[in-house]
Amino acid sequence: MHIFLGPAGIPLTTKGPSTVDGIRRVAELGLNAMEVEFVRGVHMSIATAKEAGVVARDANVVLSIHAPYFINLCNPEKAAASKKRILDSCERAYHLGAWVVVFHPGFYGALEKTKAFEMVLSECEAMNETLLANGWDVKLGLETTGKPSQFGTLDETMAIHHKIKNCIPAVDFSHIFARDAGHIDFHEVLKKMEALGMDRHHCHFSGIEYTMKGERRHLTIDSNQPDFPALAKGLLKTKIRNITIISESPVLEKDSMKMLEILKQEGYAWKK
Ligand SMILES: [Zn+2]
Repeated sequence: MHIFLGPAGIPLTTKGPSTVDGIRRVAELGLNAMEVEFVRGVHMSIATAKEAGVVARDANVVLSIHAPYFINLCNPEKAAASKKRILDSCERAYHLGAWVVVFHPGFYGALEKTKAFEMVLSECEAMNETLLANGWDVKLGLETTGKPSQFGTLDETMAIHHKIKNCIPAVDFSHIFARDAGHIDFHEVLKKMEALGMDRHHCHFSGIEYTMKGERRHLTIDSNQPDFPALAKGLLKTKIRNITIISESPVLEKDSMKMLEILKQEGYAWKK
């Protein structure tokens, strides 16, 4: 098993402000993954994406992208702008060499869950056609979301994957925990992930505060909600081949390094 660890966005201890500075810092820290954050909008030029892609390849840092938060594929009035934000992210991903673009698919709103599913599915089909037409070899990562009002249970994201192979569940363990009011069965989640037979997985982890409405804010992994050592133990028993775990903790890279220590304690032989 290969595990790729790194922060959501450039490390807090990065000296410069750029993505390239962030990638170099990730490598310096001995980590090997970074999520490029477009959560407030896609502002990176194609030239910058290409340049950062070269640096990441040289530094052996696996890149992914988080698309903007302002996405709702379940609302016909917002679907076109949402797709554009995701596809703009995918174009940058292609030039960065980022293999997956993660996004929160949408909100059920007044829709029946089956109707919301159909809408997400048809918008994903349309986006996938654009990816193919442009030759952008990038996966659409449907994130498991942290609020019961949002589309994105693990089963929903898996069902989309079964219809469109290029759409993959991006498992946010903390969101599953928060959405289910402080509960996650790691064994069950990992079994489902393993059963997908995917060559690589992309995940998010942090501690998380929640209410009955789901996620409230991210916490450090010291909070033990959910319990990272339990995830590490379970993960190392699976047949999953490649997995990235992005730290969304308030201390970002510090918790990636803590994850690495915990994985080593559980017997993982780290190869950067
Ligand atoms: Zn997210």
